[in-house]
Amino acid sequence: MDRRHLMTLLASMGLAKSAEAAAPAASATKIEPVRLTDAQWKQRLSPAQYRVLRKEGTEPPGSSALDREKRVGIYQCTGCNLPLFASSTKYDSGTGWPSFYQPLPGALGTKTDFKMLLPRTEYHCARCEGHQGHVFSDGPPPTGKRYCNNGVALTFVPDAG
Ligand SMILES: [Zn+2]
Repeated sequence: MDRRHLMTLLASMGLAKSAEAAAPAASATKIEPVRLTDAQWKQRLSPAQYRVLRKEGTEPPGSSALDREKRVGIYQCTGCNLPLFASSTKYDSGTGWPSFYQPLPGALGTKTDFKMLLPRTEYHCARCEGHQGHVFSDGPPPTGKRYCNNGVALTFVPDAG
């Protein structure tokens, strides 16, 4: 990489930082990362939100009103407002956590964790890397996936129409 390319890259990273407060990305094809310091996250989030989003905590089952949310709308990341799930993919898994069978395209990243000894697939917001939940293979058709999400990590935006 030559110097000019490097400067262009650095400039675009700077732009990404300032775009963090902007509206949710219109397209899932290009997601600018949101990077804040630990102190900034603590300031932005409630203690419960911080524990889940930044420390991969898990809220108690049944503790989120979003588990029972049935309105039409979009579920956004509480950390950065990126739309993660449409209400049309939400279903009642009976677990006490909001559950979805499919995320919006490009909205999530995944990694494997071993916190419960057996490997699980952790998933997080593709923009701010905030932890959302775990995905399992016992979901309903058409995907057979169960995205088991912490309600505190989501913000529900009802469809105005
Ligand atoms: Zn996010």
